Amino acid sequence: MDITCTHCHNPDPTGSTLCVPCTTTLTAQLQQLPRMFAGLGMLLAPSMATGQGRGGKGGPAPLPIDDRMFDHRQEFDVVYAWLSAVHDARRLQGPRLAGDALTRLHTAVTGLLAHMPWIVATWPGAGDLAHEIGELHRSASTVVDPDPRPRGRRIGHCQSIDTSGTICGAVLWLAPGEQVARCDWCSMAWPPATWMQLRAWQTENAAA
Ligand SMILES: [Zn+2]
Ligand SMILES: [Zn+2]
Repeated sequence: MDITCTHCHNPDPTGSTLCVPCTTTLTAQLQQLPRMFAGLGMLLAPSMATGQGRGGKGGPAPLPIDDRMFDHRQEFDVVYAWLSAVHDARRLQGPRLAGDALTRLHTAVTGLLAHMPWIVATWPGAGDLAHEIGELHRSASTVVDPDPRPRGRRIGHCQSIDTSGTICGAVLWLAPGEQVARCDWCSMAWPPATWMQLRAWQTENAAA
């Protein structure tokens, strides 16, 4: 039996399809999605802050300024698709998704979390699920902060390189009271001794 995680390919002594760190990351990312989705919606909403000269009828409707944000909300459809895939794999009826987009997203996230023990234990799709949710979370977090709680000091972008040669690029935070910055995305730890090198790589890659 293959005892490496299907997502990060690190050895996994439990023999699950997803290792514990990847499961923790996936769970946290799923839980943050509805808030991020709502955050994107708020960014898209027409600003009511400046009312002067805009009260008249018949003016053009304000349009989203940033196309990137609009695309991100569409990308959340992948969450429903994954819940449907899980239902298929478990020979369950298709998930019932009703209500507005945010409600449906909540339903899809809750559904996936409920199936998580089964997903990570044996499902061959777990690695792809983790990958796609990670991508969605990462692209959305370039626009909205996934977690509005104070997260300490921002120390730039994670420079760890995955097996395909891609730089992680997630924002690194040094949590209050912590000595080691840990990447929420790839779980790489960056102790203070590595910060000079980290900074050098960040500068190098930002210039590239
Ligand atoms: Zn893993
Ligand atoms: Zn990272």
